[in-house]
Formats: sequence, C-alpha cells, structure tokens
Amino acid sequence: MALVPAWARTIGRRIRSTGNVAGTLRVPGPPHTECAVYTANPEEPKYEGYTLPSEAISIPGRDATVEVLPWPHPFRAGFTLANDCEYFSWRDFCTVGRWLTTGRHTPLGPGLRLPASSSFWFFSEDPENLGFSYFAADDCREKSRLAPYLAELLRAGYLDTLHAYGGFDVRGGFRRQNAQAALAELDRLGVRLSVWTNHGSALNVQNLGGLWANAYARGDLPASDAYHADLLAAAGFRYFWLDAYATNRFSLGNRHGPDHEDGLAARDPSPWGDRILCRDSLRDGRAIIAFRRFRGQRRWAPDPGSLADQISPSNLNHLEASGGGVILYQHLGCFRDPDGRAVCGRGRLLPEPAIRQLGDLAARYHARRIWVAPCAFFLRYLETVCDLKLDARAEGEGARLSLSGRRHPLEEKDLAGVSLCIRGRAGSVAIEIAGSGDDRRVCRSCRATQIGAAETIVSWPEPSWPEFPFDGEETA
Ligand SMILES: [Zn+2]
Repeated sequence: MALVPAWARTIGRRIRSTGNVAGTLRVPGPPHTECAVYTANPEEPKYEGYTLPSEAISIPGRDATVEVLPWPHPFRAGFTLANDCEYFSWRDFCTVGRWLTTGRHTPLGPGLRLPASSSFWFFSEDPENLGFSYFAADDCREKSRLAPYLAELLRAGYLDTLHAYGGFDVRGGFRRQNAQAALAELDRLGVRLSVWTNHGSALNVQNLGGLWANAYARGDLPASDAYHADLLAAAGFRYFWLDAYATNRFSLGNRHGPDHEDGLAARDPSPWGDRILCRDSLRDGRAIIAFRRFRGQRRWAPDPGSLADQISPSNLNHLEASGGGVILYQHLGCFRDPDGRAVCGRGRLLPEPAIRQLGDLAARYHARRIWVAPCAFFLRYLETVCDLKLDARAEGEGARLSLSGRRHPLEEKDLAGVSLCIRGRAGSVAIEIAGSGDDRRVCRSCRATQIGAAETIVSWPEPSWPEFPFDGEETA
C-alpha cells in the first residue's frame, strides 16, 4: 500500500502549507497507526453526500412542482469568510470587524454591512506577535486583559470558530488540560461553538488528523496526552476543517464548478468531487463533518496579499454563474516581510485591492446575488440543505409537503435561511417536519411569498447578525 495516495501527493505539490502561514510544507499523509479503533481504508474513502439540492419534484395529482433552493431566495450563490485569527493585533482585529459588519466610517472606509464572524484563540505562546488570546499567554488559570471583550464577542456570536485552542507555535506546550480549561470556560460563559479549524506548525500537536493526518497531529489519538477530540464532541463541535481540506477549486457544492481555472483558482484532484461538506473519521473512531476551504494556488497560505486574487471579479462571476458556494480561507491579520515570513500587521491597513474586492463582494450581497453568512451559520445551513429530504403528496384541494433529514432528525430552527420554490397550481399547501415513526410537526415559522402568477417562495427567516461593538480602545 502506498503511504500517501496519489491524489494527496498531487495536493501536496499544489497546496503547500495547508494550515500554516509560516509556510512549512505540509502534505496530508496516511493515518497514524497507533490508534487501535481506526478501521477505515484510506485508499478508498467513502465520501457520500453533501452537495447542494438541484432537482424539483412533482406534486402528485397536481400540475405543480416543488424544490429546495440551494441558497436563500433570491440569492444565486453562497459565501462565507472562515478567517484564521493569528497575527492580528487587537486594534486591527477591531478595525476589520467594524469595517466588515457595520455601516460606520472606519480607517478602511465606509463599513460593508456584511454578516461575518471570526475565529479566536484561548491561548497564545507569543501574544505580542503571534496574536492575542482569551487566557494570558498559555496559562490556563489567568485570563488576559482582553478576556472580557472576547467573552462579549463570544456571547454575541461574532466569535463562532475555535482556531484550535491556541497558537502553540513557540514551545509546542499544548496538553489536554488546555482543552479542558478552554471548554470549561465556554461552558461557564454559556456559549456553544460548532466550528473547529486546525492551526499552524508541527508544534501544534493539538491538531486533529482524520483520515489524512499529518504525522504530528495528535488531538484525535486517544493514547496521546494531547488527545481532546472526545471533549470537543461532548461540547457540541460539529464542523471541522482539517489540513487535507484546503482546495483550489473556487465554487463547490454542485457539478458546475470543476473546470474553472483563473488566477489562484484551479482544478482539485482530491476524491471529494463537488462536495462542499465531506464525511471524515477521526482516529478515535468518531465520524465528523469536514468542510473544504478555498485556498488558491500560491506559495504562501492566504493573507491580505492574496485576498483580491482569491475573490477576483472573475472568481465571483464564476461563483454566481455556477450557483455554488465558497468558504474562504484567509489570515486577515497576517502580513509578510520581504522574505515571506509572517508578521503581525500592527496598524497596517489591508491593501487597496483587498479592500476593493471585499467591496465588490458586499455589493453583490446587497444586490441579493451572492448570499453571505457568518461561518457557523453558513455551515449549519449547508448541512441542512444538503441533507434535506422533501416529499410531496396531494391533500384535499391542495398538497402537503414533508421535510426530514436524511441522516439526522430535523428541527424547524435548522431551516433558518432555507427556501422552497413551488411552481404551478398546487392549491393550498401545508408544510410539516417528519420525525421518526408517525411524528409530524407543522412548520410555524415559514413565510410564503408569491413572486409570479404561478410561483411561490416559502422561506424560513434568518436571524439578524450583530454589529462588531468595539473600536479597539481598551477601557479599564
Ligand atoms: Zn492558524
């Protein structure tokens, strides 16, 4: 058996430093062998699911069809920013947050009013240069001066992604106790997070491996003192970005995106095809949902210097035309010295092309063409629509539509943002969620909007998103 499958070797050449802005070569390798419960054959991944819905079904006995739309009506495509938090100074983090989410004047220009979120760290072995953290440096017992601000951002939902537990890039000091302290603090704050992203260099043993683990990643090896995957599962984490899930394919989720090559966008040789979410297994046997992030073919991991090329007009046009989705991999706080070494920007503004292209994205969002949502909500939405089963039957003079999850029970709150389109003469329509057995619940929060003589949109409202509340000034 080859140690590294052919597609992973190809990715290794094309996608270097998947999770590390410092630029170390990171080729996804075979699973570590010391975990006894590991059983999957890595040469034959079974990546069924998850692609966007694409087909209408007929309503029996009615001259009508119904379909789950891939994106909230009337959007044609979807986008979320999945930013890794390292190298941000607190003030720059606040400037970017205000610019992205509010309509106020900021040093980057008028705010973009985009739904956005961010990842964060509980620990940082170098808070001054590597980035700030909730706890003081790597101390599990002492909070940093920024902890009250981060607690507020966690409760508001702006911080929705754990970018691993922290930056252990200096001494590699992560232990299971760090995970216990971090998750206990989330619990104390009443915050439940669902999104995990791997971080950093080979010193970050906290990283999760999955089927295509890098050898140093030990967070999902039960025999390791860095093991913590059981704690994440208990805390409710559901979506995982692992090193092997960087992609250079820009538009994912349907069959219209694979051939687009332009600038940083290229074909993807991995076995995951059109999927935007994938099923993977951690090495403790846990099944997880992994998500693919757009990196772009470039020597260094994505940063403000490549942002404009990542979301170039050509790529955004392709996204709209293909109707797919993109989860953008970035390090908005990371700048580079002349030899490419990653450094904290500390007051440097985003380059003008990056500002312009995020403005382009915002214009497409406000024109209701590209849907933008915070990362955790975007992933929850994707899981729901990619897993949604729709059945229709005639009832009286009208029809009854039944929604259910193919893999997991469906709750009505999971339908936030989902749109159905009914075309033709369906009569009056009842909508229900079907659970196990005879369990049927009428949907109460959806709204019907007639948009044509014989076309009706049924939609579940999205929550409203918080504006970033801080300007970076610290009050005592
Ligand atoms: Zn990182």
